[in-house]
Amino acid sequence: MNQRNNRRLVLFPVPFQGHINPMLQLAQILHNRGFSITILHTDLNAPDPSSHPHFAFRSIGDGLGQSEVSTSDLVRLMALINARCAAPFEERLREEASSPDTPITCLIVDALFGFTRDVAERAGVRRMVLRTGGATSLRVFARFRLLRERGYLPIEVSECRLEDPVAEFPPLQVKDLPGINTAEPKQLDQLLSDMIEGLRDSAGVILNTFEDLEQPALSLLRQEYPIAIFPIGPFHKCSSSSSGSLLAEDQSCISWLDKQAPNSVVYVSFGSIAAVSESEYSEIALGLADSQQPFLWVVRPGSVHGSEALEKLPSCFLAALEERGKIVTWAPQQEVLAHRAVGAFWTHNGWNSTLESISEGVPMICMPCFSDQKVNARFVSDVWRVGLHLNNGLERRKIAEAIRKLLVEKEREEVRERAAQLKEKADSCLRQGGSSFRSLDGLANHILASES
Ligand code: UDP
Repeated sequence: MNQRNNRRLVLFPVPFQGHINPMLQLAQILHNRGFSITILHTDLNAPDPSSHPHFAFRSIGDGLGQSEVSTSDLVRLMALINARCAAPFEERLREEASSPDTPITCLIVDALFGFTRDVAERAGVRRMVLRTGGATSLRVFARFRLLRERGYLPIEVSECRLEDPVAEFPPLQVKDLPGINTAEPKQLDQLLSDMIEGLRDSAGVILNTFEDLEQPALSLLRQEYPIAIFPIGPFHKCSSSSSGSLLAEDQSCISWLDKQAPNSVVYVSFGSIAAVSESEYSEIALGLADSQQPFLWVVRPGSVHGSEALEKLPSCFLAALEERGKIVTWAPQQEVLAHRAVGAFWTHNGWNSTLESISEGVPMICMPCFSDQKVNARFVSDVWRVGLHLNNGLERRKIAEAIRKLLVEKEREEVRERAAQLKEKADSCLRQGGSSFRSLDGLANHILASES
């Protein structure tokens, strides 16, 4: 182990919560394996160094201003970040690489940072890639152009075929294909093709998944890409890493959960970017009230288009909130999902949230919003069968029905049983000899092998 202490890894996360968390977790995992860690980061959503005192943090000074970084068009924003980061990243990487005492053993970048491919090559630094989503959705993104040529995309064009199967990706239906609202479809194509080329040319791909969860997709990826692939997830269970939250976690929800009955609470959170309209906000509130179950609801600042003022919500909801609910602006989600009181997770199926729920055996109510979330949700409901789709729009009656199905009615037992079995698989892949454990050994050796 100690021989690795002077082996330095430089990691560069995309500055969104769902990308920062897994990159910091990966950093912790590799640090535990004896590597020293430098995190390069943008000024935008810069991580808090005090939460990770054993890592070195270096800003690349991207010059991105808060006014430029609206998440309403994620494609445009990601393209802007790529464009702004290229020059300062190159400068910083060259500086870091020329440090005589601590050369860079390997650079690990987020797959969405396509520009790093040429920069790393010019700087003579070996580059690996972290893809923060699942293996299945990665394969779908890789075939985006083909799916368009075959008429599946854009989804608006195939409006009347939404329920048709996508023969290339069973059991996906047309409506499950990743849709990303953007005014810049060409930029989306560019981002995706840069991502795929960047993977192809990399020294290896690290995935936050595990064999028993996505075996078919992993095996196809290995056939399709002649590169080393390391599924070593679920990351957050491999090591106890400090929180990478950009918002303050409200710990009061844990003492609130302590007072609730086992498996009685529905935890509601739609991640760090998804937002709902005011009318959807109100319908969610009515559904929670109608469910008659205790609820913990994350209402992030900016997560409602319009106003998230509580006073705007119907009075029957406010009464339910007082009696058996709690709202926070940001939760310690992994702790919440691990709490014995939580019996269901109403989620947007971001990949981190999906894996975190699977890792704790918590059944899901799926409300995917965009991007890979729809792929993840289909797998939750139809392949792993550990959740229900909240189909066809938000409606209070359907919401209450879904919550009661998972928390109260008889059929909850089967779903819970399957979720417990999947949790056991997630646990066992991390134990000595398990698939992720072995893959992590392979990754550590692969990184070191570059030096010989
Ligand atoms: N998260 C959290 N507290 C919250 C909501 C979310 O800590 O109140 C974390 C969650 O645990 C996950 C990340 O934020 O690790 C969200 O990532 P995900 O991929 O699920 O969704 P995204 O935010 O990228 O849409």
